Amino acid sequence: MATSALTEKLSRLAKELRGQARITEANVQDMLREVRLALLEADVALPVVRDFIARVKDKAMGQEVLGSLSPGQALVGIVNRELAATMGEGVSDINLAAQPPAVILMAGLQGAGKTTTTAKLAKYLIEKRKKKVLTVSGDVYRPAAIEQLKTVTGQAGAEWFPSSPEQKPVDIARAAVDFARRQYFDVLLVDTAGRLAVDEAMMREIRELHAALNPVETLFVVDAMQGQDAINTAKAFKEALPLTGIILTKMDGDSRGGAALSVRQVTGAPIKFAGVSEKIDGLEVFDAERHAGRILG
Ligand code: GDP
Repeated sequence: MATSALTEKLSRLAKELRGQARITEANVQDMLREVRLALLEADVALPVVRDFIARVKDKAMGQEVLGSLSPGQALVGIVNRELAATMGEGVSDINLAAQPPAVILMAGLQGAGKTTTTAKLAKYLIEKRKKKVLTVSGDVYRPAAIEQLKTVTGQAGAEWFPSSPEQKPVDIARAAVDFARRQYFDVLLVDTAGRLAVDEAMMREIRELHAALNPVETLFVVDAMQGQDAINTAKAFKEALPLTGIILTKMDGDSRGGAALSVRQVTGAPIKFAGVSEKIDGLEVFDAERHAGRILG
């Protein structure tokens, strides 16, 4: 792994301490300040940074850092491990343990990448899990979104269940489940309407959908470029729905992806996948260790 900017900074700080018999708690505080800055630069939300630093501080005050010959490196090691553990806990594959069709509900703001990700996931489930997959759109406000899902579902090699703006989302979803059951589909992916910002009507609608569908997975799709705002969106969705996983999209952008840490901490749900391009095969299983390195820069 290339030496990160943070590692370099901490090594520099540690070098200044050379000659000192042992490093002190104040020295560790200085290093923690650098860690804090690195996390803020990566757009991790402030309360999440505070919590994280408190956890790292507890560990850093032990012998591993204070007694180390290279305290900078030792601290980076702790930070890396803590980041990876925080983001990597939990099951990361898609749970399909349900009476078929296993229903997967996609939630998130408009523009987060829900429709694209629904098709990417369909392709993944067909190719990697050998499943027969149906998609349906409950976005009755944007006919173009229904058409978009039809197009990308075709690219994924999955089947698409028609819906129209005159219908209620719950009715659409029930009809799709019924069809999926009769046609022996293994999985039904339900794309939903999103708004540009969280609003009460949207949350009520998706809660109703959730109650009607009883999905085995409720996935929160969030744009990694959303940065600091991701925490508020995540809070709102977590309050409305029992989220079972997170998909972080647009990881091919130039953000350092601090949203991953914020969203993971706020929802408690595992980050299952990362979207890495606009293309249908641009979906990767989330790698917490690699992502920890990216956040630290
Ligand atoms: P929705 O409104 O949540 O359904 O979002 P869409 O699926 O329509 O995606 C919004 C835009 O983001 C589209 O232009 C997608 O091509 C793009 N997009 C989605 N996921 C990714 C990703 O992982 N990487 C990149 N670069 N673009 C993405």
